[in-house]
Amino acid sequence: MAEETLFSKIVRREIPADIVYQDHLVTAFRDIAPKAPVHLLIVPNHVIPTVNDVKASDEQALGRMFTVAAKLAEEAGIAKDGYRLIVNCNEYGGQEVFHVHMHLLGGEPLGPMLS
Ligand code: IMP
Repeated sequence: MAEETLFSKIVRREIPADIVYQDHLVTAFRDIAPKAPVHLLIVPNHVIPTVNDVKASDEQALGRMFTVAAKLAEEAGIAKDGYRLIVNCNEYGGQEVFHVHMHLLGGEPLGPMLS
């Protein structure tokens, strides 16, 4: 049976989400609890639980996540000022959804990351 996560249900459009981009490798949608004026999540369409589980066969989808992040940042008008990409891993990293995802945050000064 296919692995199931909240985000794989969003990818398959089984639960509602504000999807801003989708192709055969990745899907991007608005975070439900935004921490910045622009807060998008970019996920591989297939489930990779954590960064610890990444395999060479995932590289195409993971690379696409960066390409799409740059495209969406440009479209949101935040590319020039800058933005932050975050991937959390496991408990100490603050990961809550166990389907690898990249946060794209921007639209205001975000300050130093560790403070
Ligand atoms: P994590 O802490 O890196 O795992 O981030 C999980 C993110 O998923 C959080 O920023 C949540 O606000 C977000 N999130 C949880 N459920 C949903 C949803 O149904 N739609 C969109 N974003 C969600």
